[in-house]
Amino acid sequence: MKIRDDNTIAAIATPIGEGAIAVIRVSGAEAIRVSDRVFVGKKKLNDIEANAVQFGKVFDATGRLLDEVLATVFKAPHSYTGEDSVEISCHGGVYVANQILEELLAAGARQADPGEYTKRAFLNGKMDLSQAEAVADLIQARSEKAHWASVGQLEGKLSEYVGLLRSELLRLCALLELELDFSEEGIEVVERANVKKGIDQVQAAVDRMIASYAVGKHYRDGVSVVFAGRPNAGKSSIFNALLKENRAIVSPSPGTTRDYIEEAVVLGGVLFRMIDTAGLHEATELVEAEGVKRAKSKVVESDIVVVVVDAAESLSRADALKALEGLKPVEEVIIAYNKIDLHPDLLPQSIEFSFNGIQGTEVFVSAKTGAGLDLLTTCLMESVADESGVGPMDFRITSRRHCDVCDRVTQSLSRALSSLNSGMTNEFIALDVRQAIDALSEITGEITSEDILDVIFKEFCIGK
Ligand code: GDP
Repeated sequence: MKIRDDNTIAAIATPIGEGAIAVIRVSGAEAIRVSDRVFVGKKKLNDIEANAVQFGKVFDATGRLLDEVLATVFKAPHSYTGEDSVEISCHGGVYVANQILEELLAAGARQADPGEYTKRAFLNGKMDLSQAEAVADLIQARSEKAHWASVGQLEGKLSEYVGLLRSELLRLCALLELELDFSEEGIEVVERANVKKGIDQVQAAVDRMIASYAVGKHYRDGVSVVFAGRPNAGKSSIFNALLKENRAIVSPSPGTTRDYIEEAVVLGGVLFRMIDTAGLHEATELVEAEGVKRAKSKVVESDIVVVVVDAAESLSRADALKALEGLKPVEEVIIAYNKIDLHPDLLPQSIEFSFNGIQGTEVFVSAKTGAGLDLLTTCLMESVADESGVGPMDFRITSRRHCDVCDRVTQSLSRALSSLNSGMTNEFIALDVRQAIDALSEITGEITSEDILDVIFKEFCIGK
């Protein structure tokens, strides 16, 4: 995708399928004229006012009626893309929407690339890059927290914060560079202690942004929870109980779950992707062995592992954790001792533990009676409790790209500080402060490259 492309583009903006309506978007300098070639209404779209809707019909090249439609006209710069745009609402059928699109393409439009409308909105200054990214996140949001994070970013909370940090760094840079002009006269315009204080403050803010990514990534992408443990311990039963549906087959014969099953559930406003596996045992036959191999790879990829243990078989932490040996340095482990309904002496409870460097929680549950499952749910929710110390900052960093930028800002500022502490000249310090400013500019897109834009916008759906 070239950074700038003035072609008029068209795409179906609604999901492909049957529905009440489908919307086809056309955008670009020729959008209204191209639409007028396929649209027949009382007035030409070219002759109606901006933001007005016109009823009309769309015919194909042979004069066959395709559909009765409503066309909305937007005029530059007051449209989503900032260009002249037309939105044609037709009946929501796969065939009819595609046929109208075909007619628009034949009339001179080009099929839009994924995310091209939003990319144009960014290039035309309708939104900055972090806001454009937030559009994709908002569309993909499946939980309250994901929605909160994306809407805040779309509103410009991240941009505003980054803008303040940039201004502060620009101010410090200006001071440092001003002093360069007087260096020959040996005048100290700025106290170095003040520059240091300014850099420290910006760094503290960047630290808060980085810390917020710990929960922000889970808000956006969800939390993956893998159920592992021996066959028949009750993994599928707990999985079903948490989902409140019979998704996985529960059977008294061991090894029923051969592959893994994944289902999403929202707890405390956060999306959890629950993954039931075949377990982490020594398999006796080929299909089972493949299931165990897949279970292991899921454990390695997961955010949280719940090791399910039949309380009748073992109550040993060491035994439970043995299954994870050699798999990965597990960050969050929950051991669920299941079937406590068969053991009147075991009560539903949760206990935090630290064992061989692993921090975790033991929970005593019964998938059958539901006892202790609330504790297990709480335990999962606490794994995304916001303990990042971000204070009153009312957004979270949700994207790896933004976090990487913050890491680079940290590197530049720490170089600037060490130059400052070792008495280097202002030139050196200003150079690193400038690099930090440039890095911050990548978040909002004042500085960007074609590669970055391609990576970002290819994540979008066509028509957005
Ligand atoms: P998995 O192989 O680890 O997925 O275990 P399943 O969920 O298929 O359960 C194995 C067997 O244990 C089934 O017969 C379940 O009905 C039974 N089971 C699971 N959880 C409980 C529980 O909390 N109490 C009792 N009494 N039986 C359970």
